[in-house]
Amino acid sequence: MRLYFPLLLSIFLGGCSNLDYFLTTGTVKLTERNRLLGELLPERACYDILFYDINIEIDVDKKYIKGYVDFTALAVENFEKLQVDLAKSMQLNNVEYNGKILSTNRKEDAVYINFPKITAGSEFTFRVYYEGSPQVAKNPPWDGGFVWEKDEAGRDYVSVACEGDGCGLWWPLKDHISDEPDKGARMSFTVPKELMCVSNGRLIDASDNDNGTRTYIWQVVNPINNYNISVQLGNYVSLVDTVHRSNGKIETMNHYVLDYHKEVASTVFPQARKVIRFFEKNFGDYQFWEDGFKLVEVSYLGMEHQSAVTYGNVWSNWGGDHRSWTRDYYGIIDGLLFHETAHEWWGNSVTAKDPAHVWIHEGMAVYSEAMFIEQELGYNVMIDFMRKKRRFQNISPIVGPENENYWAFGDSYNKGAWAMHTLRHVVNNDNLWWDTIKTFATENAKSNVNTKDFISHVENKTKMPLSYFFDQYFFDKRVPTLQYFQVGNQFHYRWADTVSDFAMPINIEINGQEKRIIPKIEKQTLTISEHSVVHVKDWQFLLNKKRVQM
Ligand SMILES: [Zn+2]
Repeated sequence: MRLYFPLLLSIFLGGCSNLDYFLTTGTVKLTERNRLLGELLPERACYDILFYDINIEIDVDKKYIKGYVDFTALAVENFEKLQVDLAKSMQLNNVEYNGKILSTNRKEDAVYINFPKITAGSEFTFRVYYEGSPQVAKNPPWDGGFVWEKDEAGRDYVSVACEGDGCGLWWPLKDHISDEPDKGARMSFTVPKELMCVSNGRLIDASDNDNGTRTYIWQVVNPINNYNISVQLGNYVSLVDTVHRSNGKIETMNHYVLDYHKEVASTVFPQARKVIRFFEKNFGDYQFWEDGFKLVEVSYLGMEHQSAVTYGNVWSNWGGDHRSWTRDYYGIIDGLLFHETAHEWWGNSVTAKDPAHVWIHEGMAVYSEAMFIEQELGYNVMIDFMRKKRRFQNISPIVGPENENYWAFGDSYNKGAWAMHTLRHVVNNDNLWWDTIKTFATENAKSNVNTKDFISHVENKTKMPLSYFFDQYFFDKRVPTLQYFQVGNQFHYRWADTVSDFAMPINIEINGQEKRIIPKIEKQTLTISEHSVVHVKDWQFLLNKKRVQM
């Protein structure tokens, strides 16, 4: 998902007092709802989701949904009570287990279900019936909910986005990013017959009912992030394309676009081939070929829905509005198509253990954009791209507090990417660097990681102690400042605004000659010839520069 600062503040923090609190403290007040959603309390830790079977009727006229979800799970502990998550605005009808109705009680968006004793190691299935008017997204994808739109021909055009807000706003589940259904999910949607329904994975069946509706069944066989499960309704047509992979295999991509956009889409969507080849080369195989890959047109900007990436760039990449996603990418790619597809690797395959570490999705996606530009247009153009991304909040660290359902989007995008860009120049060995991030993706494919896992991986690969680096850029909100002073034949320098052991090497140029120095908190002095011109290569490192007499 793509977010910018003003939107972030208004959407994630709601009212003004929350905003004041965030600007003052850099943190968000923990609500009971977010505690229940964010923490793996015993009622959630006691089970592991294996499969979701989601069955929903969508009444487009009434903007109403009704259905049930079958949970198949493994008991990790003995338990008699478990928690599922369903927005309190939705009505819970019944919970069925082994032909019996189970008692429930609710607290915020958590539903507690009382079971007869379930023993650790056993697999069990239960069904949750529910219905309601799901939250309507006010400004998708930045705030979640259903998007009830009309297309240009006045026909219904429906989608849903829920990253951050929680999937419980439209279906009941165990809504924690660390627990993906190991065996995938089956999605059955009953919709007005005149609309095509597109969801994740493969279309298994579509059949007419005698009440003017049609039921579509889609399925993914791979683990999937909860917020990636999606549904789209519209006058879609399919657009079939193929991608030739470097291993010689040819895969089919079955995109869906509104009928009147088929021609324009047939010129834009083939870019996906190049994007997929780039990622497979640099970060390993796409992990979900069994579920296919497709782009699906939607009315909002876009979202990384696994195997069904949604795209809403309104076919106007060069416009003067904020969606000029090709102009900003030097005309070589649709940046939105690229960014959302990037999440198939960073986010969907390699997933954060907790949303506090969402930079692993967003920072790596933005950094991948820079890598692509470097590969296509060279190092100097990549530097230009990164300089345009040099916009940060610096209100709170990139990594947020864990267990609070805190989606640390804030500086995860640009500062996350700049931290990677900086780290590359600290490592100072490109082959080693590209191998380091590729192996992080391949060794952690289809699993959950946190920042600590990334630090260990980089330290193991590079044999460099880097805790000072991560403490500064990921766990501290400040950008380090290089204080310097040049007088006569002396160049003085030191770090300020840093953690106590910060000693990051940087590159400088003295009269055009590159030199690596390792500033520390204590002043150091370099003897240079008088009247030298010293450049600090701050286009390679995220730092501020300040001339200070010392
Ligand atoms: Zn994103």
